Amino acid sequence: MLDKARMYVCGITPYDVTHLGHAATFVWVDALGRVLRLLGVDPEVCRNVTDVDDVLDAAASRARAPYDTFAAIQQYHFEHDLASLNVRPPRHEPRAHRYIEHVIRLAQGLIEVGRAYERKGSVYFRGQMAASQAGLDRPEALWLSAEYGGRPDDPAKEDALDAAVWQAAEPGHPAWDSPWGPGRPGWHAECVAMAMSAFGVGVDIHAGGNDLRFPHHAYHSAMAEAFTGVSPYARAWLHVGVVMIDGVKMAKSVGNLVLVEDLLTRHTSATVRLMILDRPWAEDWDYTDASLEAAAARLADLYYAAGRTHEASRYGADEIRRLLAADLNVPAALEAAIETGGAAARLLIATLGLD
Ligand SMILES: [Zn+2]
Repeated sequence: MLDKARMYVCGITPYDVTHLGHAATFVWVDALGRVLRLLGVDPEVCRNVTDVDDVLDAAASRARAPYDTFAAIQQYHFEHDLASLNVRPPRHEPRAHRYIEHVIRLAQGLIEVGRAYERKGSVYFRGQMAASQAGLDRPEALWLSAEYGGRPDDPAKEDALDAAVWQAAEPGHPAWDSPWGPGRPGWHAECVAMAMSAFGVGVDIHAGGNDLRFPHHAYHSAMAEAFTGVSPYARAWLHVGVVMIDGVKMAKSVGNLVLVEDLLTRHTSATVRLMILDRPWAEDWDYTDASLEAAAARLADLYYAAGRTHEASRYGADEIRRLLAADLNVPAALEAAIETGGAAARLLIATLGLD
């Protein structure tokens, strides 16, 4: 990339507090943006808000609030937490509920090219290819689809792996008019509509948690490619490692959340950022209190090294730049920066937002 990078990031469903699992994805995306800037590339980031979502509807109804008011309040807290972590705001921040018309046009286009069909007021995208392209066998694909709200047992579908582009209205959910009757957009289709509105037919980088590979990202790219005829939809993917506790993914449904605001009462944002970034970005990892203590010690080493007036080894700022450009190798860049000190260490601190 020479000048600009179009980067789409799957944002949050604003129904609950920000936890370390969310934060890890958005801190990595932020770090990638900063590294691109260091390399002379302008990152144009679009991070959506999934404010039309079945999980959100359920949470809003428990709170006895309209879905959009409820989402706006949660969104405010989320943005506050990310700002506390020194994450730069994205250039575009589309909210799903404003892209209903786009999803309807997407559904119409997919029907026209024979990749989707209407049944009982819903429009379904034919999903078998998305599953096979993701390298999953059918039972795995069905299990993941069910796990992520894909309703493989919906009797209106021709095939259990088909996914709703448009879902017919149901009680307890918001609904909008469409050529097929009242309903709401499907999750994957919302992201397709928002990504296309910001960037057109494709993106340079699509980012999100490792757990979004299937079904979400697989269906997103399959729908986008079927609609536009342009492939690949994304030139590169940044699938950020999932944060776990004792080997179990951090999730609201499991109840093992580590909240960003709690971490920030005891540690600086630079410590939390370094804990997230000082590892291979694609690897899932276990959070422990010790990992935070280790990051604090590492950061102290880096600050100490930055205070040195002479660079102590053959590595210089160029080496830091090279290591970061080589697949975002933060652990190696950190090692080199601490060993070298001086300007090299200061460059890494500024680039990773650790100041
Ligand atoms: Zn998405």
